[in-house]
Amino acid sequence: MSIDLKNLTAKKAHEDLLAKKYTVLELANAYVENIKKRDPEVHAYLEIFDDIENQAKKAQERFDNGTADVLTGIPFAIKDNILIEGKIASASSKMLENYHATYDATVIKKLKDAGAIFLGRTNMDEFAMGGSTENSAFGTTHNPHDLTRVPGGSSGGSAAALAMDGCLVALGTDTGGSVRQPASFCGVVGLKPTYGAISRHGLIAMGSSLDQAGPFAKTVTDIEILFSTLAGRDMMDATTISSDTYAKSPLKKSLTIGVPRHTMEKGVDPQVLVNFEESLTRLKKLGHTVIDITLPNIGYALSVYYVLMPAEVSSNLARFDGVKYGLHVNGKNSIEDYFATRAEGFGKEARRRILLGTYVLSSGYYDAYYNKANAVRKTITKDFTDVFTQVDVVLTPTTPTPAFKIGEKANDPLSMYLADIFTVTANLTGMPAISIPSGFAKEGSVSLPLGIQMTAPHGREDILFTLGKDFLGEK
Ligand code: GLN
Repeated sequence: MSIDLKNLTAKKAHEDLLAKKYTVLELANAYVENIKKRDPEVHAYLEIFDDIENQAKKAQERFDNGTADVLTGIPFAIKDNILIEGKIASASSKMLENYHATYDATVIKKLKDAGAIFLGRTNMDEFAMGGSTENSAFGTTHNPHDLTRVPGGSSGGSAAALAMDGCLVALGTDTGGSVRQPASFCGVVGLKPTYGAISRHGLIAMGSSLDQAGPFAKTVTDIEILFSTLAGRDMMDATTISSDTYAKSPLKKSLTIGVPRHTMEKGVDPQVLVNFEESLTRLKKLGHTVIDITLPNIGYALSVYYVLMPAEVSSNLARFDGVKYGLHVNGKNSIEDYFATRAEGFGKEARRRILLGTYVLSSGYYDAYYNKANAVRKTITKDFTDVFTQVDVVLTPTTPTPAFKIGEKANDPLSMYLADIFTVTANLTGMPAISIPSGFAKEGSVSLPLGIQMTAPHGREDILFTLGKDFLGEK
């Protein structure tokens, strides 16, 4: 039987599985077949798991005995920095090329309990550092909409897998935009939840005060289903929060949307700006109010992120010492082993950030850079808290340009970092943000997806879901 993967959502697949239109295995196999067709040119996956049939069998039993959950039998792609017991988790680094996870990340455990199917692990920028997936030690992923372009990053493999119908939903991680930016480039929905909403236990850490796991899906409805399964307090992650940690005022039908136009004055592609205006018109027609707002310190966000993130990276990546995990390279003595392992195991971008981070944390510069950046982080957060007394949501484009060409920014780290201009703030403030497909830019004969980003106050994913569904016309 042939399944219409293009128009399938997790919600619809659940109904179909309940109605026995196809079996869990037939669904999983439909994806595996499509991956075989598309992935040789897209390279979204690093590995397709060999136990899919077994997973499907167990999930099918739950349909047969009436204990199926909404995510039972739903085929997932998992970013390669999320631990699945017994499987390799390489974070797309030579350092962990042969590292097998010894336990399940909490998000994986929750999905296993729900009966989800893991199709495979997806390509990413090494240790989640990058915005194009070009920093993977195992080759670049291509954007399914235009194979000469990047899918975004760092969760580019997960976004591309979804966009090529190589999975029904996917997981990524977002430290400065790594779910939202590739979602925007690939034309799918991507959520960065409130910091602490989803457990980080079992994610390979990048910047611990910024990292969050986040779901990818084709609809906001599916994102909401995933979020409610994944969210919650976890004994294994002391930074997790519960759904009532932040006070919630009742949701209004007509929302006030704040637009910080001053952030879009320079460096934003004209087609992105036109699409953004069209999106505002659409939202107004739906009965929402749009007002201009000012975020006085947002201009510092990118600089603050690129001080704090490398500081946290340098300390998180110190554990890869050739002894505890993964790669070991022999030198003449143990200190040489350490240097040799790190020189061979880490790619260029990882080394660049370790150096930068070590520098900003060094005793002579700690106050000047690290402490200063932390102080500005607080000020930026206050700007947002203040603005949220007047508006329900802050709206910007997700990225300043559509997907760029492979190789275009690979040798110019600063221009690559600039692509994160709209996304890093939500990680600095810890607030939830979602990227929603908003149309296409034309480049010659190809159409490149664009996205808008909605940011809400802490704990208010519900506002993002309501407005997002409204925008996409989902009931
Ligand atoms: N592109 C950003 C960076 O390179 C974001 C990475 C991420 O969110 N993991 O740091």
